[in-house]
Amino acid sequence: MKKLFKCSVCGFIFEGEAAPEKCPKCGVGPDKFEELSSEAAEKIYRSDKTNAIHMEIITLSEKIIALSKEGIEDNLDPKCVAAFNQAKNEAWIIKQRSKTELAGHMNLGKW
Ligand SMILES: [Zn+2]
Repeated sequence: MKKLFKCSVCGFIFEGEAAPEKCPKCGVGPDKFEELSSEAAEKIYRSDKTNAIHMEIITLSEKIIALSKEGIEDNLDPKCVAAFNQAKNEAWIIKQRSKTELAGHMNLGKW
């Protein structure tokens, strides 16, 4: 059965039957890895999908911001520009809310 090992130097989480010969992120040896408890491992697996959804929302928000900027630049009429400005500001809030949530997950080991 696969287990999770955490690099004590950089925090990389490795999945395998034993710690890796070399950390894929920072290059240290297996003596720098600690096996995660089943509770800690469960948090990581359980939050994987939600973290991916937040990252997708961040990507989509960035697309809305870029499209809004194009619309503002096109400058069809003041109401249209106002709508694009509002969309840009709302997308920023959506993006930052998901980024904040992800930062919270990282602090709680849900990453
Ligand atoms: Zn490392």
